[in-house]
Amino acid sequence: MPEERADERMYFILDLDGVVYREKQLVPGAADFFARARERGARWVFVTNNSTRTPESFAEKLTGLGIPTEPEQVLTSAIATARYLSGSLARKLGRPVRALVIGEAGLKQTLAAAGVQIFSADVAWAERHDLPSPEPGAPALDVVVVGLDTQFDFSKLRTACYWIRRGALFIGTNPDKTFPYAEGIGPGCGALLAAVEACSGQMPLLMGKPGRPLLEAALERLGLGRLSEVIAAGGRGRGGEEQGEIRSRVMVIGDRLDTDIAFARRHGLPACLVLTGVTTPAEIASPEKLPEEWRPDVVAADLGELAVRLFG
Ligand SMILES: [Mg+2]
Repeated sequence: MPEERADERMYFILDLDGVVYREKQLVPGAADFFARARERGARWVFVTNNSTRTPESFAEKLTGLGIPTEPEQVLTSAIATARYLSGSLARKLGRPVRALVIGEAGLKQTLAAAGVQIFSADVAWAERHDLPSPEPGAPALDVVVVGLDTQFDFSKLRTACYWIRRGALFIGTNPDKTFPYAEGIGPGCGALLAAVEACSGQMPLLMGKPGRPLLEAALERLGLGRLSEVIAAGGRGRGGEEQGEIRSRVMVIGDRLDTDIAFARRHGLPACLVLTGVTTPAEIASPEKLPEEWRPDVVAADLGELAVRLFG
């Protein structure tokens, strides 16, 4: 029974596109990987930097492809943003967070459902001199959240710049500079963040990979909330040793070096690169030439090969 193996249970945090599927097709060995992981009593969650789609729609796609998935097993950068704004930031402020949100409807709905007070760019600009401060000395808006927004324009950029320069915290859902559109590669959230960064003079605090908020959300869903506390404390503190042992049974699996692999390495978790996505074997032929946090601990051709290596 899976429960009997709880002390040796493995936990997986997997990216989706380029790891589990490409467009509408499963990658080789993916179905076998999850069937064998289930037999072993492993637990897993999927993490994606895509802030425009909901966990429900990803779960539906995976289930349709033959990998039965509940929405609770899917975490997006929008969910990580909502968790951060309505959790630690709201606690710090002692009230709901007031946010200018530049992004698609999915991001706004997720934030609103979490209790974030949302202001659109037009309102925040038109009323810029009238928006009352929530408390003396505080900016009228606490944060500017920027996600992928296909209606992004100069007026949104100008509004974001205005509020960040007035002291609002600059938050980015994810740093991916490109996004795959029907016609090919086009601008991703990271391209919009670069524009806001250029005029505001501030770097964004990243919610998605390789940032910590998405990792904390994933560990909590896996029942490993205590591990995220230990990671946040740099591995020190009470329970650090025991949690270090659990840490070695967590594996982050992804296809991108700068988001997925850095996500794991930056927070001290084992990282597996699969070669079914954007990274080519040539790019990792000389790992010593890569930035340290881009170096995977394990490289596998695909999930099928990883299943054989992990489960025999
Ligand atoms: Mg990917």
